[in-house]
Amino acid sequence: MKKILLILTVVAVTAGLCSCGNGQDTKNTRVFYEYFDTVTEITALGETEGEFTRVTDEIEGIFKEYHRLADIYNEYSGMNNLCTVNKKAGKEAVKVSGALLDLVEYGITAYGITKGKTNIALGAVTRLWHDAREGGAALPAENELKEAAKHCNIEDIVIDREKGTLFLRDEKMSLDMGALAKGYACEKAAEHLEENGKTGYALNLGGNLRVTGKKADGEFWTAGIQNPDLLSDQAYINVVYLKLPALVTSGSYMRYFTVDGKTYHHIIDPDTLYPRDDLKSVSVLCGNSALADVLSTALFNMSIEEGKALISSMENVYVLWVDKDGKAHYSEGFEEYIKE
Ligand code: ADP
Ligand code: MG
Repeated sequence: MKKILLILTVVAVTAGLCSCGNGQDTKNTRVFYEYFDTVTEITALGETEGEFTRVTDEIEGIFKEYHRLADIYNEYSGMNNLCTVNKKAGKEAVKVSGALLDLVEYGITAYGITKGKTNIALGAVTRLWHDAREGGAALPAENELKEAAKHCNIEDIVIDREKGTLFLRDEKMSLDMGALAKGYACEKAAEHLEENGKTGYALNLGGNLRVTGKKADGEFWTAGIQNPDLLSDQAYINVVYLKLPALVTSGSYMRYFTVDGKTYHHIIDPDTLYPRDDLKSVSVLCGNSALADVLSTALFNMSIEEGKALISSMENVYVLWVDKDGKAHYSEGFEEYIKE
């Protein structure tokens, strides 16, 4: 039995941002390693260094806040976060910030949009898989998975806006926002930029990409969608124009472990309680990086056909699937965004 656990890096997930400018733009980049267990890269073209530092300090503040709010392993002084809420499950309602209530409410919406395939109340199950991955030697026991699955009911999340509290009715349940916290944080940071007229920025939070407007030279940003075959000469499956501002990739090649020669990745189908093995990556291009994050996780838990059916009623959502044989499949209209 062999343990392989790749901690993802920006480059390994998706987005090589390609500048197509004429060379006269100043390119500023800032990288953080502290948030969401991944690499965060902020890029802007045509911004002075001082202004870039000021703006990215603000963005860092937003990422830091959501990182802390969504952290299920650590608590922080002066705030109640999801770790606190999970600890108090079945016991008491916890006073939390409006930002955390909004995040959890979005998670409940996500459940509806994805017919339960992205379920923030799956924490009891994802914890067993997380521990198994860390241990690296064995799968979670089937009976433990089935027992945990009894405690994943989204309706047991109680939000009280008036009191500003969050309560989990079932003491064995826990929330896990891993499927959408990064995309949500990117969206909030991008909204902040847009409110302040800051176009020409690209935020990449571990493969959750969100740009604001076009680049300073008036061209669309472009992004490379990583080839899941990391040994291939072809680094990208496609390079796409970000005419829509959010591109998020979920991949089975980033966090996984191997037992008896079979690999098990980190996205768990709530219906089978196991990861599926027919996809290598799913990339979602749309107008909102929180939605893109929600969908990239959900689409991993269904066949390509089921995924196409799910997004067929959604406007301006485009998907690229890479199947287990490395073949790319596209949703209708995706080709309009392909650069090469
Ligand atoms: P990544 O975080 O690697 O970008 P995803 O956005 O797909 O990938 O989120 C995967 C994370 O979400 C897992 O690590 C786990 O914490 C959590 N998770 C796994 N399966 C589900 C699911 N079906 N619904 C909600 N959360 C999930
Ligand atoms: Mg996701």
